[in-house]
Amino acid sequence: MACEGAGFGPFRDKKENMKDKNRSSRPPGRLAILGGGAAGLAAGYYAASAGLDFTVFEAEQSAGGMCRTLSIDDFRFDLGAHRFHDQDSRLTQEMKDLLGEKLPVIEVGSQIYSEGRLIDFPLSPFNLLRNIGPLGAMNAGLHLLSARLAGRGRDEDNFERFAVHKYGRPIAKRFLLNYSEKLWGLPCSRLSLAVSGKRLKGLSLTTFLLEAFTSGRIKTRHLDGAFYYPEGGFGGIIDGLTGFIGSGRIRTDSRVTRVLHRNGRITAVELNGRETVETDRVISTLPLPLFISMLDPPCPPEIADLSRGLSYRSLILVMLLLNRASVTRAGTVYFPDPDFPFNRVSEPRNRSARMSPAGQTSLLAEIPCGGKGAACPNDAAVAVRSVVDSLIRIGWIRESEIIETHAERLTHAYPILETGHESRVGRIQKYLESFRNLRLIGRNSLFKYTHFHNMMRQGRAVIEEGFMVHSS
Ligand SMILES: Cc1cc2nc3c(=O)[nH]c(=O)nc-3n(C[C@H](O)[C@H](O)[C@H](O)COP(=O)(O)OP(=O)(O)OC[C@H]3O[C@@H](n4cnc5c(N)ncnc54)[C@H](O)[C@@H]3O)c2cc1C
Repeated sequence: MACEGAGFGPFRDKKENMKDKNRSSRPPGRLAILGGGAAGLAAGYYAASAGLDFTVFEAEQSAGGMCRTLSIDDFRFDLGAHRFHDQDSRLTQEMKDLLGEKLPVIEVGSQIYSEGRLIDFPLSPFNLLRNIGPLGAMNAGLHLLSARLAGRGRDEDNFERFAVHKYGRPIAKRFLLNYSEKLWGLPCSRLSLAVSGKRLKGLSLTTFLLEAFTSGRIKTRHLDGAFYYPEGGFGGIIDGLTGFIGSGRIRTDSRVTRVLHRNGRITAVELNGRETVETDRVISTLPLPLFISMLDPPCPPEIADLSRGLSYRSLILVMLLLNRASVTRAGTVYFPDPDFPFNRVSEPRNRSARMSPAGQTSLLAEIPCGGKGAACPNDAAVAVRSVVDSLIRIGWIRESEIIETHAERLTHAYPILETGHESRVGRIQKYLESFRNLRLIGRNSLFKYTHFHNMMRQGRAVIEEGFMVHSS
């Protein structure tokens, strides 16, 4: 599998690095890593391994960004259901070395709640057929056939066309289009194909038919319910990384407020509007439009315009602490139906028993909001109530079982991948390439729908590809 780190963002190719190598023999200088989420800590981890001089500047009180785990009484919650994907053997081994036995493999599948039933996710053909019944299956099959006859690959320039072509409208609508519109806050006809991530990988017409006609005896490879998950929450990985880096190199409560530059180089960053720190090189993981807005002198107006067109979806995370042993058996349950305010609900205990006290459990509901869709509710109590009412309605919980509720807002949860965003982002990145001592990594900096293991690869790539030696 190709390493994402090799081809993302404003990175220069090997030939350019060789040119730099010949040009400069300066020793590595001070490196400023902006943002202490997974990407910033990844850069810090590999920089520390390489013995470099660096500081991570993080705005919040603690590092970890979206990969943190919160403690509420004796309960623990990730900021949205997280799991560690085993996609890169070197990285997996490094994380195992860091966490030891605290990083077990667990096996728990996900499901979709649709029309009162639970269906395996990613969509399992056998389970799907069993749930939609023979008539539903025939209707879905006819639509799929007609979508396929309409032409292979034709008109697949947005997610709606892609999904309808691949699965036929009834299946696409019920399981993919409703869900995606809820998650991204835009009609699927305005969403890029990139929103599917790798979720649809392996669910081709062939695998569908194979599994359906063998009554599920031949399970196809897209059914992947096994993953690594740290005991006590995904934040265990963050604790491992911060422990390795050392707290002296991570400055929390240090919000970058200005990025000063001169002659094609970033020269300093301003923190909290009052302190200026000089730097030789910068790795930014900050949201791309935020970084652009902080440049001093300002960027050209056309770049500022392009950047203002990029936006992010937020999540309201509603946490319910429950006085009962268990609610579901799934890792995550997806809710495509527009009647539910949330797009997914997870039960942290099903990932690690340490997420709640013995005999008690919890639920975490994710409500997407903001960006280009409906605004986020201002009142946390309204969000909590909407979740509680929905879960009582479907019989998952009773009011009397609720010990406590809590809500958190996660801004910049998802870069909104509208059709055409690649070219806008590409033009901004092209402009930023003119800064010789700057690299961008991270989900919101690169404006990509991508995951923790890719943050680690990006951090590794930027340090190991010679940025510190060849970019002065
Ligand atoms: C609901 C949800 C579920 C997910 N599930 C998974 C999963 O199962 N598996 C997986 O691999 N990935 C998952 N991800 C993706 C994963 O969380 C991200 O890929 C990862 O957290 C991105 O890290 P980052 O460092 O790029 O961004 P962030 O985590 O957003 O970190 C950016 C950091 O920069 C800081 N910052 C912002 N502004 C400033 C400033 N001005 N100055 C200084 N610091 C600043 C922020 O406080 C933050 O700490 C999920 C994401 C979400 C939202």
